[in-house]
Amino acid sequence: MSESLFQYRLRISPHSRRIRLRVTPRLGLEVVIPSGFDPGRVPVLLKRKQRWIRAALERMESLRALHAPDWCLPAQIQLPAVGLIWAVSAKPSDNAARTAVRETGAGQLLISGAVENEQACRAALGRWLLRQAHRHLLPGLERTSHDLGLPYQRALIRRQKTRWGSCSRDGTISLNAKLLFLSPETVNYVMIHELCHRVELNHSPRFWRLVERHCPDFRRINAQRRDLWKAVPHWAEKAVL
Ligand SMILES: [Zn+2]
Repeated sequence: MSESLFQYRLRISPHSRRIRLRVTPRLGLEVVIPSGFDPGRVPVLLKRKQRWIRAALERMESLRALHAPDWCLPAQIQLPAVGLIWAVSAKPSDNAARTAVRETGAGQLLISGAVENEQACRAALGRWLLRQAHRHLLPGLERTSHDLGLPYQRALIRRQKTRWGSCSRDGTISLNAKLLFLSPETVNYVMIHELCHRVELNHSPRFWRLVERHCPDFRRINAQRRDLWKAVPHWAEKAVL
């Protein structure tokens, strides 16, 4: 299936006879297709309609900005995984397109640009978070891999919604940038877990024995995994358009 230009929600409607596109604040872009229509054709369709979709998304975004007075920048950002804390300050400027986050000193972050615009700020903070993840998580994975003698092919940083990490058949390990909000012990466990998948690409008893050998305390950490998402601040979730 081809990559889509837009994130969208697909709804199959047995009652509709044609394809409909809708943009709503709650659901973002919704594509309604008649049953029997091949969902694989949707990305091409969206590409053809991209001008209309972009205009509709922009209109909705400006409405959301008006109706979201509760958005405010985080005053502080903590990344427990690497023991770092930043105070966040803001410098408004007219250039909304260039909203950016940079470090101005030890423990000082400055966000400049459209500092009142939630979408722009979350996008900029998200890019900053990815940079931090590249800086800290990838070398951490490399060290752990070396220490354990469990090599991998390549590593990626992503912002998955439901997984902290994954390991693919071709040896690619993906780590969630949001791991930075967790404890070092948890991050270490996630890395060990994914590296052990390089030997056992399953969750068999053999896999868990291998995990236990490298992380004897894994059961306690693994038991908390559903609660861990609460540690992720709202701004760090990918904004749903
Ligand atoms: Zn696993």
